Amino acid sequence: MRVDVLVVGAGFSGAVVAERLASHGKTVLVIDRRPHIGGNAYDRVDAHGVLVHPYGPHIFHTNGMRIAEYLSQFTEWRFYEHRVRAKVGDLLLPIPINIDTVNRLYGLALNEQTIGSFYESVREPRATIRTSEDVVLNAVGRDLYERFFRGYTRKQWGLDPSQLAASVAARIPTRSNHDDRYFTDTFQHMPLEGYTRLFERMLDHRNIRVECGVDFFGIRRRIVASHIVYTGPIDAYFKYCYGKLPYRSIRFEHEHLAGAAQYQVVGTVNFPNDHDYTRITEFKHLTGQVHGGTSIVREYPCDGGDPYYPVPRPENEALFKRYEALAKQAPEVTFVGRLAQYRYYNMDQCVGAALKAAENVLAKLGMEKVRPAEGSRPRVRAATAVASPPAEQPRHDVAPSLPSRTA
Ligand code: FAD
Ligand code: UDP
Repeated sequence: MRVDVLVVGAGFSGAVVAERLASHGKTVLVIDRRPHIGGNAYDRVDAHGVLVHPYGPHIFHTNGMRIAEYLSQFTEWRFYEHRVRAKVGDLLLPIPINIDTVNRLYGLALNEQTIGSFYESVREPRATIRTSEDVVLNAVGRDLYERFFRGYTRKQWGLDPSQLAASVAARIPTRSNHDDRYFTDTFQHMPLEGYTRLFERMLDHRNIRVECGVDFFGIRRRIVASHIVYTGPIDAYFKYCYGKLPYRSIRFEHEHLAGAAQYQVVGTVNFPNDHDYTRITEFKHLTGQVHGGTSIVREYPCDGGDPYYPVPRPENEALFKRYEALAKQAPEVTFVGRLAQYRYYNMDQCVGAALKAAENVLAKLGMEKVRPAEGSRPRVRAATAVASPPAEQPRHDVAPSLPSRTA
């Protein structure tokens, strides 16, 4: 088969590049070894009619309005601000740590004027912040570190926070106010009809052909393409020639609770100290779906399964750099995405990186002028207007042959 560009992976990174290239007149074949599009952001209606995220909870948030506007071409949105509680002893406390976390844990009555001196009294100042342990001890001291961070991090990564780059724990701020939202981004919305529908619309283009259940390494010699965009693990592309890059995996345990309208008070409850799982997420909070039962997922971190998380620490970064040097010697291939760039990217960061990558590919393929990614104002639907997603909603569970759409 002959195409302009072969895109390996139908997650955010691959789908955005494919859409951009197709909109500029390139013919694109998108393959994914999984039986569906969407990558880790794939969602589907479970056997009980509840919209769930098979690969764990995905909450969209961004400060990049260009990214929100770009995606708004393919979805309407539902306003949703994620809230998380951490189970510490018998208490369910706000995480990120805020004034209420501290007051309820220690029986105090601190306010915005006095919380600063509390943090000052407990923190263990670090001259250099190198590891995730440094980040948390420097901000809130040992007791809060041990109750909220150490156990969770050990479970999640199989490593102590002192063995992980500062950037991991730095994802979680320390708050000097009562804000109990997990994210403070300016745009926090979920795709109204789900992520898979968004992907279907993005890939629904006459220049794009999608084949699911197809592994790149099985077909690479049969496809003739001017360029390859690869979004899988970079070490696999180079046959692990420098050894395996560590990626952390998760085993997802899904459960449906019939007759229980709500399982927990917020979208996610974290378990820093108890159980083998890190967190439980109840999907109806995220999607706003109305249903008599509810579906939840428990996340059990593990090694050796599908690669989900690059593991940020200096030795892994050094190994990645060696693979990146090989990638630079292969100008006919673009490596983009969380697995190919070995970056702990959120979805919006993948979209941003993919938009940039698409521009570079178009420049390489000789586009005279690259049209900017067209955006529209985000189409936001009020949370109250959300209906249950219909169970019969068409989904690409097997290799879809997508209908054509005029570009
Ligand atoms: P992926 O989604 O991993 O897609 C890569 C695709 O390439 C996969 O579908 C894979 O099957 C395919 N592939 C790989 N190798 C081959 C091959 N050889 N042949 C064919 N196909 C191949 N981000 C947020 O912004 N908010 C969240 O709340 C959030 N929650 C998350 C929760 C979990 C548990 C995880 C694991 C991630 C979460 N993320 C979240 C991150 C988000 O999933 C990623 O940023 C994003 O989905 C990555 O997109 P991608 O296209 O780069 O990679
Ligand atoms: N973290 C923690 N306790 C928590 C929440 C997060 O120790 O209650 C640490 C942990 O190391 C985790 C990291 O902060 O891996 C980033 O958390 P985030 O919720 O961003 O992880 P993700 O949603 O990407 O799995």
